[in-house]
Amino acid sequence: RSKELGRNAFHLYKPVMNTRSLERLALETHFKKALRTDAFELFYQPKININSNQIAGVEALIRWQCNELGAISPAQFIPIAESLGLIVELDLWVINRACQQVQLWIAQDIPFEHVAINISALHFSQGNLVLAIKNVLLQWQIPANRIEIEITESSFICSLSEAKSVLEELNELGIKIALDDFGTGFSALSYLTQLPINTLKIDASFIANIPEEYGNSQIVSAIIALAKSLHLGLVAEGVEQEKQLHFLKQLQCPVIQGYFFSEPLTAHECTAFIKQYNHPCI
Ligand code: C2E
Ligand code: MG
Ligand code: MG
Ligand code: MG
Repeated sequence: RSKELGRNAFHLYKPVMNTRSLERLALETHFKKALRTDAFELFYQPKININSNQIAGVEALIRWQCNELGAISPAQFIPIAESLGLIVELDLWVINRACQQVQLWIAQDIPFEHVAINISALHFSQGNLVLAIKNVLLQWQIPANRIEIEITESSFICSLSEAKSVLEELNELGIKIALDDFGTGFSALSYLTQLPINTLKIDASFIANIPEEYGNSQIVSAIIALAKSLHLGLVAEGVEQEKQLHFLKQLQCPVIQGYFFSEPLTAHECTAFIKQYNHPCI
């Protein structure tokens, strides 16, 4: 296109590129500062077991309210943390804060099974996840079975043997392992039996248009059957509407997460949500 437009094309797009790289630079600078100044917060989104109508657990989701730039979503700043080589540090902040919350909820007799923590795929090649988690569990004096980690297929696609040994050690500690965004990756299904994975989380993109969309409804149905036959736990992500819930319930998907039940909440709001939870199921 720039060739067709001739010399002027250069002037047409250069300012745009500059703005974008300046924005990126600003984001990076503010992100580094945020990491130094503890400017993040953890929110918690409940997962509901629709068979027992109990809270199955909550997922910790990081939030960043930047003074200068406003609220920035993790979809924007996690890749920045990864490219700056700061993702291990960020994940460790999250693990520590989540375990502190676990300790608090246990002390307050708040009924919840576990807190799920998202771990970046890069953490498997860059950090020492097992040692870090061991230390944090000791520091906060909490049992390993109150923690679940959520990983994506990209965690083991590069180096299966490395990821396998990390996951096996975590599994031996008693940490549960969920495969996030299931169905969106490129990995072989054989990973499901080679790795100590406890739970599949069906990606929200498959849930979005069920039950109207035939293809995704069939995929969801197949994933549910797969999880059942492999004795894996199952969570449907991104459930917003009653018709989606109804469809998933019919297919006996046990655990539901999404705005239909609750958005991610502050720790304080989530405590209240857990205390009063008594949602009548459809
Ligand atoms: P994810 O782990 O798959 O998390 C699900 C995302 O969907 C969250 O977005 C959540 O707020 C959002 N969500 C939940 N229910 C609904 C719903 O019903 N409808 C819609 N439209 N969205 C829903 P969020 O918090 O912006 O996080 C995006 C991604 O960023 C996460 O995807 C995860 O990959 C990553 N992330 C978030 N927190 C952390 C963290 O503490 N550490 C790491 N390493 N990654 C994180
Ligand atoms: Mg997740
Ligand atoms: Mg997900
Ligand atoms: Mg995701």
